[in-house]
Amino acid sequence: MTAAPGHLTPATLVEWALRDDDPGEDGDTARHLADCPACREQLSRLRRVVRLARAIETPDLPEPPSRPVWERIERDLRGTGEPDAD
Ligand SMILES: [Zn+2]
Repeated sequence: MTAAPGHLTPATLVEWALRDDDPGEDGDTARHLADCPACREQLSRLRRVVRLARAIETPDLPEPPSRPVWERIERDLRGTGEPDAD
C-alpha cells in the first residue's frame, strides 16, 4: 500500500479500533495517525464503540443489545459533540 493522500478510510479506522494494539506492520497508517488529530479522534471514538460492544457481548446475554445501546453507539459514531458521561 502507498501512503494515503487524504484521511484514513473508515474501514482502516475500524480495523485498527478492533485491535487492542496498533498493528505495527502498517507504517503509513501509523504515520498518518501520528500527524492527524482528526483521524486520532475518529479512532478513539471507534475504540469506545468497540469497548461498548465487547462489554455487552457476554455469553449469558439473554437477547440482543437494546435499542438505547445501539442509539448510543450511533451517536458515538456520528460524534454529535455531546459531552461524555464518563
Ligand atoms: Zn487524517
